[in-house]
Amino acid sequence: MENGLLARLLEGHEKALDRDGVSGTRLAERLAALSEIGDTAEGGVDRTGFSFEEKQAKEQVMLWMREAGLDVREDGAGNVIGRLEGKSDGPAFAAGSHVDSVPNGGNFDGPLGVLTALEVAEAWKGTGFVPPVPYEVLIFSEEEGSRFGAGILGSQAMTGDLDRAAVDRLTDNEGRPFSEVIGDYGSSEEAFFASARDLAEIGFYTEVHIEQGKLLEAADLPAGIVKGIAGPAWLDIRFAGSAGHAGNTPMAGRRDPLVAAGRFVFEASSLPPSVSETAVATVGRLTVSPNGTNVIPEQVELTVDIRDLDKDARDALVEKVWETAERCAAERGVQVELELASSIDPVPVEESIREELREVFRAEGLEPMELMSGAGHDAMILGRHMPMAMIFVRSQDGVSHNPAEWTDLSDCVQGVHLLKKFAERQMERMAGK
Ligand SMILES: [Zn+2]
Repeated sequence: MENGLLARLLEGHEKALDRDGVSGTRLAERLAALSEIGDTAEGGVDRTGFSFEEKQAKEQVMLWMREAGLDVREDGAGNVIGRLEGKSDGPAFAAGSHVDSVPNGGNFDGPLGVLTALEVAEAWKGTGFVPPVPYEVLIFSEEEGSRFGAGILGSQAMTGDLDRAAVDRLTDNEGRPFSEVIGDYGSSEEAFFASARDLAEIGFYTEVHIEQGKLLEAADLPAGIVKGIAGPAWLDIRFAGSAGHAGNTPMAGRRDPLVAAGRFVFEASSLPPSVSETAVATVGRLTVSPNGTNVIPEQVELTVDIRDLDKDARDALVEKVWETAERCAAERGVQVELELASSIDPVPVEESIREELREVFRAEGLEPMELMSGAGHDAMILGRHMPMAMIFVRSQDGVSHNPAEWTDLSDCVQGVHLLKKFAERQMERMAGK
């Protein structure tokens, strides 16, 4: 069903950006075609990982890949690999992203990274350019994590980072085990784990993605350079006091865990600037028990999400948050239990790669603004094993994971040019090694 996305995209078509074989119209048509797979009444998409719709979106892109002259295969994790041979063999330069979405998600988060990577191959086909080393367009399965509560599954299967026992414990939002879901998808758990690649085959990974923030918009820039991907640490905290009747218990002597938690949430919000400019700490989940209007709570459970690009700063912030929770509890005479539930290391982008990107941005006449990615991406997984770069493009109002997600076509096409120039320079370097 035609949803108006194509017309809206083409309104922002800057013809001057149709150069070096790149076509804004083709990119717009493909973004619009994907927006119709799993489309929702609000103009968004439902393409949960390992769903029929995710598969359909991949099959559509695989058709385009073949038309563009790529050799296409799908691995046991449902990851799609579209490969263009280079003048010499050796490790490939890869670019890509995902086509799954959160429920009622947007039309750019994921598809833009896949389609910009494909548009680079289309541009080369148009101009007769043969890449010096192999070039791969990658689509990773199940990035968003909206099915199993554990995302980036496809890229972790490819890099061999998944623990079999942990995958066996996964159940989806309908209570179905992973083995059943992957079976229905047309694969098997054996094939899923067999999709781990010899990573020496990939020499470099790059991802173009929407910013999902407002910094580029505020700076009036179409695109920016990602400095690194912040690693989240999740700290589970439980404040425990004594329940009592709200009317019959005098204020003096109360041991109210919600008052301690309230004080803690307030104080924790002012801690991040003390460790770094980019660090953030967020309490987004709070469970009060028994949660009655006329009952002093007995227990409050919450999780603090703590992130920064710099691992030492992030870990220092975890310490400070921890100490603050203990002090807030002691001041109110309540007990506190803390547990570091998970901790993912940040993945910085190497300075030499950022310098190369700055040169590419300047060559495109763009100010090279650098920014941190607060959210995780497939690039975070690949970046642990190989050199990695990410390019962000402007997001209108910073909206994402929502049908209102929007990036002007001119910004999307600018993303193609940046990726293309960067890939050409990087591949030259890789061929010279
Ligand atoms: Zn994404």
